[in-house]
Amino acid sequence: MRITATVLMGLLFFMACSKGPYSSTNRDYKKQAKAYSKLLRMYPLEDSVSNAPYFAGTVNFSMRRPNFVVIHHTAQNSCDQTLKTFTKTATQVSAHYVVCREGTVFHMLNDQLRAFHAGVSRWGNTTDLNSCSMGIEIDNNGFEPFTEAQINSLVDLLGRLKRAYNIPQANFVGHADIAPGRKVDPSRFFPWKQLADAGYGYWYDTTTTVVPDNFNAMQALRIVGYNIKDSLAAIQSYKIHFSPADTTKVIGDGDRKILAELVRKYQ
Ligand SMILES: [Zn+2]
Repeated sequence: MRITATVLMGLLFFMACSKGPYSSTNRDYKKQAKAYSKLLRMYPLEDSVSNAPYFAGTVNFSMRRPNFVVIHHTAQNSCDQTLKTFTKTATQVSAHYVVCREGTVFHMLNDQLRAFHAGVSRWGNTTDLNSCSMGIEIDNNGFEPFTEAQINSLVDLLGRLKRAYNIPQANFVGHADIAPGRKVDPSRFFPWKQLADAGYGYWYDTTTTVVPDNFNAMQALRIVGYNIKDSLAAIQSYKIHFSPADTTKVIGDGDRKILAELVRKYQ
């Protein structure tokens, strides 16, 4: 029997899906992926465009590319618990990657597909972050430091994703950043400065900062990317990320300096 490349790839995919404790939900994943591949081939969609006599398919295209990474903490007590949550249809939550305490990384969804991790969200003028981002969940209950092994694995993963999809440095954000008032992850323990130093998101140095007289802190938050509709919520999200030791929702002189620096980086 002649084995074609397609049959061989299908066989390898099936074998990969059949391994491990998630073989049953992996089969469901495969079924869903197959349904989407059928959808991709189904053109023209009935009644999708008026005044269109026939489909004239271009030959120049590729898959859409994710352009943001949203980082979360799981608020659960183990990776095992998170994997179970993300493989039950009733929960309707998922992420592309889960990074466990000892540094193990689980890839749960093809990067090109849309996971359910961001929810109602906004960063700058971008809404529906689920449609343009990859979600990374860090196994952490929200009240403890992240482990060194975990951060090392995360930085390694971020490097791969940044290179693969050419993601801008400013587009590595936290769930709290894109959903002020609704989300507080990753927590104040998350090492954003370490990540910024490695090229994922930005940090600041305020040693020589002079804040302009007409400086408007709320507008600065908006320029950085925050949704300032609820100003206290926006301030809280900013503090969690950029001034984690401060649990107030007050913009002080130190914050004005930080924001003056961040505006330069994020605008
Ligand atoms: Zn989250």
